[in-house]
Amino acid sequence: MIIVFKPHATDRQIDDVKKQIRHLGYEPRVIRGVEQTVIGAVGDELSHRSLEILRSIPYVENVVPIQKRYKLASREYHPEDTVVCIGEFSIGGGAFQVIAGPCAVEGADQFRRAARDLASVGVHILRASVFKPRTSPYDFQGLAEAGLEIVAAVKEEFGVAVTIEVVAPAHVESVAKVADILQIGARNCQNYHLLEIAAGAGKPVLLKRGMATTVEEWISAAEYLLVHGCKDVVLCERGIRTFENSTRSTLDISSVAVAKRETHLPVIVDPSHAAGFHALVLPLARAGVAVGADGLLIEAHPNPVAALSDGPQQLASHAFGEVMAELRPLVELSGKTLV
Ligand code: PEP
Ligand code: MN
Repeated sequence: MIIVFKPHATDRQIDDVKKQIRHLGYEPRVIRGVEQTVIGAVGDELSHRSLEILRSIPYVENVVPIQKRYKLASREYHPEDTVVCIGEFSIGGGAFQVIAGPCAVEGADQFRRAARDLASVGVHILRASVFKPRTSPYDFQGLAEAGLEIVAAVKEEFGVAVTIEVVAPAHVESVAKVADILQIGARNCQNYHLLEIAAGAGKPVLLKRGMATTVEEWISAAEYLLVHGCKDVVLCERGIRTFENSTRSTLDISSVAVAKRETHLPVIVDPSHAAGFHALVLPLARAGVAVGADGLLIEAHPNPVAALSDGPQQLASHAFGEVMAELRPLVELSGKTLV
């Protein structure tokens, strides 16, 4: 970290700060300018307490961190792309997955029809959430544990893998028995206790970006998963809150490029929750492919008009073959393989 003094700090003030820096485990190196003095504090910022506390000293103007707040997630620490294997299906390192399925599991018939439609056109990983974080407590909340039995039966029948959202630590154990991927939704991106518990379940975790989290905060949330023992983390950009209201959220395409550069983790795009409207899903999906995403997460329902949640943004699962056919050449063009 760099500690910048206000102009004309006295020798005594500088010595006092040097003492505090040593006390916090860093080695101070003083650089005296004509008006201002700075101290470079040498030491590992991740294993020592932050020196930002020194900002509270009246004659200190600023404290500037040099190291990033994440390490395990960073590409500097791990230069090669991480490939997350979901059974025989992989995400990252050139393997592109289109994960699709209804917003929520609504019943055996609905989920089975979606699975049949999607598996028949080459979708290997299904959305299969049974706990739905809804804005209104009066809206459909998901089938909860009862839905897990439906998902388990459909997995068996069609040989697919599933991603299931966990919204509370208490659900992690039961969901992990059926899920191939635990999904952390946008609303829980910074629910650190849930991240810790999910990381300990021994399953890959798909971490959505919170709708008001910076890319750095999102990557730091991934760092929680990595620190707590989950090596297989997939990041998912799903749109952020902005002043724009013609879409449900604003798909932050640049975050995908930043996350791919900053981390070694696979990054996928959810065009459905960003768009909020079916006709915009494919254009945003194309943008995701073009910016270098390793996959997509798309909502598809056998009968969107009857959906119990997010109907307007769901694509018809029986027409999903057209979506796959449209995406395949774009994925190839981006140098990846739609597996
Ligand atoms: C979802 O993918 O089911 C979902 C609830 O999305 P988000 O967490 O991105 O809002
Ligand atoms: Mn949804």
